[in-house]
Amino acid sequence: MSEKQRVIVVGAGISGLAAVFYIKKQMPEASVTLLESSDRIGGKIRTVRRDGFVIECGPEGYMARKPTLTNLIKEVGLGDKLVHSSPGTYYIYVNKKLRKMPKGSVMGIPTRMLPMVTTGLISPIGKLRAALDLFIPHVYKDKDISLRDFFQKRLGSELVTNMIEPLLSGIYNGDLADMSLKATLPQFAAIEKKHRSLILGMKSIQPPKQAGASKKSAGRFLSLSCGLDVLVNKLASYADDIQLNTPVTRIRPGQVTLADGSVRSADAVILASSPKQFGPLLDFDEARALSRDKRTTTATVVLAFKKEDVDTPDGTGYVVSRKEGLNITACSWMDHKWSYTAPKDCTLIRTYVGTAENADIVGENDSFIEAKALNDLRRVGRVGTPLFSVITRQIDNMPQYTVNHNERVQAFEQALAKIDGVYACGAMLHGVGLPDCVDNAMHVAEDVSNQLKKHADTAATS
Ligand SMILES: Cc1cc2nc3c(=O)[nH]c(=O)nc-3n(C[C@H](O)[C@H](O)[C@H](O)COP(=O)(O)OP(=O)(O)OC[C@H]3O[C@@H](n4cnc5c(N)ncnc54)[C@H](O)[C@@H]3O)c2cc1C
Repeated sequence: MSEKQRVIVVGAGISGLAAVFYIKKQMPEASVTLLESSDRIGGKIRTVRRDGFVIECGPEGYMARKPTLTNLIKEVGLGDKLVHSSPGTYYIYVNKKLRKMPKGSVMGIPTRMLPMVTTGLISPIGKLRAALDLFIPHVYKDKDISLRDFFQKRLGSELVTNMIEPLLSGIYNGDLADMSLKATLPQFAAIEKKHRSLILGMKSIQPPKQAGASKKSAGRFLSLSCGLDVLVNKLASYADDIQLNTPVTRIRPGQVTLADGSVRSADAVILASSPKQFGPLLDFDEARALSRDKRTTTATVVLAFKKEDVDTPDGTGYVVSRKEGLNITACSWMDHKWSYTAPKDCTLIRTYVGTAENADIVGENDSFIEAKALNDLRRVGRVGTPLFSVITRQIDNMPQYTVNHNERVQAFEQALAKIDGVYACGAMLHGVGLPDCVDNAMHVAEDVSNQLKKHADTAATS
């Protein structure tokens, strides 16, 4: 009888876990080992349950219109736990006031005239400047540029400062002046290419529809009412062996070296670790270039309250314009979005501290961070004393796709393809969203199983 083929997956975040699932799906007979440097699985996904609250400390959900993750959730039997986020007004805190995001704006780009004309978010001059988008020639000419350059040239600096930057910084926690248009928001490059004007182009497109989703829910977020860690645990159950507290220090064809110096061998190794590990583990120029790319630092501060102790307006939350000088960058009223996250008489607020200019605060202790966050929240609305807080830090661990990211990834993947039996996936490469990570892991698992099946066939015939 032929020996079992062995696969080692390095890193137990969603990318590594999804890779385990898809390898086992395609090659149930293979033996898959998951090596994780920390003492837990899940990577950036972490769910805490306390006093009836379900607290997501990392990702809270994902874009419903990207189907891969939804399909995976259904495949592992959690389809009945899928929930759509409740829709609601979203605000921007700017000029010391919470102001409603104008109706019809997508990522801060206006698609409807009346709400834009009447909004107090932009001055009359700023509105006229944004309207010049209708006449300005192409800005993106197939050569990557920064998001700031692109949006500022098309829509003017006021719209960027007051709407686009707070929204995108709230999502990506990055600096628009560094972030790549092609890698971060390729859809806007494509719209400009086709329609020239962003406003006209956005008006003419419908949100992509997910199979089975109603038009209303297609643009919304999905999550799991049981907590995202249930998915993590389900996926982990497909691994034959999981070793925690096991940092990998080196990857070479057919083997990985662990921090204690021991060596494990395998027919294929999939690297799905944090971005800064790519260079040191793989040790070739293109991998080192990826590890040198920018990463940001942030802390997620989740605060639980009795309902009567806070005023939360109708809506799902707000982002903060950087010019307000607050430590917090965004705030979500979690129980408005996801009713299962708090008991009926309570409210759960999630906010983020730490920006590219203010990363040091994340290194402070919990009570310092909580006090700073509360102080800022109280400048925006009535916020009393929390029942408790949960603070989670991501230090130098959030990949930023800076200008020419796609070219660096392409060079990395070409170099990696020359190394026999070594593969890579993860948020560093083709998208930081959970569905992007799952998509990437699925494709890499396919490559691995095709290669291993070929090896098995060759061995059988020789
Ligand atoms: C606060 C926050 C909110 C977010 N919100 C959303 C959201 O709402 N929706 C969304 O779609 N995305 C969101 N994201 C992004 C998304 O969570 C991440 O991009 C995704 O989880 C990354 O998964 P990953 O498996 O690629 O990496 P990670 O989750 O970072 O996992 C990498 C794993 O590798 C391990 N590792 C590292 N080095 C080694 C080594 N040498 N040996 C062995 N193991 C190693 C690490 O310990 C870790 O467990 C959010 C991210 C954060 C931080």
